[in-house]
Amino acid sequence: MSRELLIKLREQGGLSRPEFRQLLAAHEPGLQAEAAALATALREQHYGNRVFIRGLLEISNYCRQDCFYCGIRCSNRKVQRYRLSPEQILECCEMGYPLGFRTFVLQSGEDPGYSDELISDLVREIKLRHPDCAVTLSLGEKNFSAYKAFREAGADRYLLRHETADAAHFGRLHPLKQSLQNRMRCLQDLRSLGYQVGSGFMVGSPFQSPQTLAEDLYFLSEFKPEMVGIGPFLPHRDTVFANAKPGDMNLTLFLLSILRLMLPKVLLPATTALGSIAPEGREKGVLAGANVIMPNLSPPEARDKYMIYNNKLRTGAEGAEGLRLLAEKMRAIGCEIAVDRGDYPDA
Ligand code: SAH
Repeated sequence: MSRELLIKLREQGGLSRPEFRQLLAAHEPGLQAEAAALATALREQHYGNRVFIRGLLEISNYCRQDCFYCGIRCSNRKVQRYRLSPEQILECCEMGYPLGFRTFVLQSGEDPGYSDELISDLVREIKLRHPDCAVTLSLGEKNFSAYKAFREAGADRYLLRHETADAAHFGRLHPLKQSLQNRMRCLQDLRSLGYQVGSGFMVGSPFQSPQTLAEDLYFLSEFKPEMVGIGPFLPHRDTVFANAKPGDMNLTLFLLSILRLMLPKVLLPATTALGSIAPEGREKGVLAGANVIMPNLSPPEARDKYMIYNNKLRTGAEGAEGLRLLAEKMRAIGCEIAVDRGDYPDA
């Protein structure tokens, strides 16, 4: 019965909300293994054994928002704030290119200290120096004209997780001035500007339920993002949710497989959070259907301070300098790292 739902999901690219709930309720190791087998077959069909890498640059931890789950929320006074200069960011790209990175992801808190103009200039400069590379931005909620300026400067992709597609749930994870409606407006704006768009959510965030998860899957089946980022929620000691329990690794893996079945060509990272929660988390993610890994290219001081949750992996195979180790780990599971922009196939 549940296996039929997996097949139906693959055939139709979506399910009804009750069917998604039914599928989630049926999660057990046997079904998870079946989902993973179907998902990896699809990944191989579209991408062979290639796994794409993205160089992650955590460019600033200043943030004007106050998301209850996030370690760099503005009300956390214990954070040592930092902001990389354009020169530092360009140096990181310079370092990443010979390592094989052909996508640079600039991620930060919502930092008013970077003007839209500065970001646009920076994007333009990266594209000028590395014309064969893609630039992905992940700078949070901005207005249309900012997204437009970044796009015109050459940005190719934008990552903005919806976090939860249930408005009431969204309200329990964020202060009143943040809304699901604005998040959705941003995603629509990004799409209309021709970005490859990434969305996603945390697995096991406080107050998440099978209902809210079914809503997430339903939303993603309709919006059809080019990229989906999911990873377990992990508590940070200086947040509202310091004592909340972390998300479940197996549920994350099951959801990765479901996402691959639903959006067969989606660019799906095995996230740092997944790697942080269990040894070999990222390998397990790839074996569940993921095909992207985002090693950290930030300078070491920045890595220590971009602490969105405690015990975040940031060295070893997680660091860009550990790429050889990562390549070995991928070979051990039959995959190879591609030196390639790794665009969405129809983009
Ligand atoms: N300011 C940017 C980048 C946020 S960090 C933005 O709003 O998009 C990227 C992602 O990390 C967030 O979208 C969130 O889903 C995830 N994240 C934040 N805190 C987390 C935590 N405690 N555990 C796991 N993931 C977390």
